[in-house]
Amino acid sequence: MVSHCDLLIRGGYLVDPGSNRLGRFDVSIEGGRVVQVGPELSVDGAREVFEARGRLVLPGLVDTHVHLTPPERAVGHKMLARAGVTCCLDCGGTLEEYLEGMAREGAGISAAVINRLDPGVTISGPDASRQELSDYLESSLDAGALGLKLLGGHLPLSPDATTAAIEVANRAGAYAAFHCGSTRNGSNLLGFQDALEFTGGNRIHICHVTAYCRGLTLGSPVEESMAALKELSARPHIVSESHMAPYNGTGASLENGVPRSHVTRTCLKMGGYDPTCEGLLAAVREGHTLVQKNTASDVVYLEPEDGVRYLEEKNFETTVSFSVNRRSTAFLLATEKNEKGGFIVTALSTDGGGIPRNFLLSHGLSLVRFEALTLLEMAHKCCLAPARMLGLKNKGHLGVGADADLVVADFRSHEAVLTVAAGRIIMVNGLVVGRGGTVVTTERGKKALARRGISATVVDLSRSLFYTAA
Ligand SMILES: [Zn+2]
Repeated sequence: MVSHCDLLIRGGYLVDPGSNRLGRFDVSIEGGRVVQVGPELSVDGAREVFEARGRLVLPGLVDTHVHLTPPERAVGHKMLARAGVTCCLDCGGTLEEYLEGMAREGAGISAAVINRLDPGVTISGPDASRQELSDYLESSLDAGALGLKLLGGHLPLSPDATTAAIEVANRAGAYAAFHCGSTRNGSNLLGFQDALEFTGGNRIHICHVTAYCRGLTLGSPVEESMAALKELSARPHIVSESHMAPYNGTGASLENGVPRSHVTRTCLKMGGYDPTCEGLLAAVREGHTLVQKNTASDVVYLEPEDGVRYLEEKNFETTVSFSVNRRSTAFLLATEKNEKGGFIVTALSTDGGGIPRNFLLSHGLSLVRFEALTLLEMAHKCCLAPARMLGLKNKGHLGVGADADLVVADFRSHEAVLTVAAGRIIMVNGLVVGRGGTVVTTERGKKALARRGISATVVDLSRSLFYTAA
C-alpha cells in the first residue's frame, strides 16, 4: 500500500541489476528516492502515475564516457536525456566549461567532471613537472572536479609526465581516466600497452578500449581486441569501458596548418589522405570524414559539400568523425568475460553526449536481442558497473533508498520513452523537460560548489570500483 508518493511507475518489466530482480513490478518514488518496489502497489495518493505496461524499466543509464564540453557541446545534455542517460562522466573538458554548458543547456542529469591535461593550455607542455601536475590536480579537486583526464591519444604527454600524472592522481585519491597514447606511441595497441606500463599497480580508467583496436599495430582489429582483452584480464585492478559506435569523434582544429589532434592525423592517414588542412578538406569532400553541426536540440552530420563549407566557416573549430571502429571489436569488447565469469571490460559507454552516438540503450538492447547479453547483464554493464566505477552507491540500481534515476524503454524500438532523474521527469516521449543538473564531486569539492549554488552529490572514491576493483 502506498500512502502517497510523487511518482508511480506502474506495470513495467523491471530490470534491476542491484537485486537481480526481473519481472513486472511497480516502482514508487518520493523525495527523489525509490521508496517502494512491488507487484501492483496501490496508487492511492500518487501525485503522478506513468503507465509502463509492456515496457522495460531500468535504472537510469550511467555513461562513463561522454563529451558535454567545451560548452558548444552542451546540447549533449538534451541528447543524453533523450537516450535515457541520467548520470555520466565528462571526459575531456574542464569543470568551468562544464558548468557554463550546464547553466545554459542542463537537462537535469548528474555528471562527474575530470579536468583535462592539455599541453600549452591547462598545463605548460608535454613535459610538465610532477609539481605542476600535482598543483593542477589539487586546484581541480578544490573546485569540485573528480580528477584528471589524460588525453594522450589526441594531445600526448611524455612517458614521464604521463606516469607522474597517474601517480599524483592516485596519491590524492582522485579519479583519472586515460585516452591512451603518449609521445612514445599513439592511440593504438602499443599506446594502450604503454598505458598499462605507466599505470603499474596504480589505478586508472582506460577509456574506450575500442579505439586501440583498429588494426594499426597488428593489422587485424580482432587480433588486437583479443590482445587487449588478455592484457586487461591480467590486470583486474584496472577499470575500463568500450563503446560500440562505428564513428569516432575528434577535433578538426588546426595548429600550423595541421590538425592539432593526433587521432585526426592518424584517421586521415588511414584513409590515404595527408594529415594536413588540405587533406582534411579532401577527406570531407570525398565522404571519408563527416563534419558535425549543432542544431538547437541535436548534433547532426553534414553532407560533404556542406561539411566543407561549415569547416571553413568555423575556421575548423568543430568535431569531425571517421568510420574507424569495427563491429567485431565492439562486440568482443562488450561481451567477453574472464574465467570468473565477470566482464573483462567493466562498462559499456558511448563517447557520446554532444557527439551523436548515444547508443547505450539501443546497442545494449541489440546485444540482448542477439542473446549475447541477458537483460540483467546489459543493465549491469550500462547502469550498475559504471555507477560503481564512480563510487555512486545509490545509482545504477533500483532498490529501496536508491536515487530515483530510471528509464522506461521500448524493447521493440530500443528507445527511451521516459527518463526520470532524482525523482523528476526530465524526458517524456522525446521531449526534454529537465533543467539544470547535479555535479558528482568529492567531499573536498563540495564546499566550492555549494558556494556557487550548484547542486552536488558527494562520492567516497576510496570505496569506488576505481579504487577497489581486484
Ligand atoms: Zn572521448
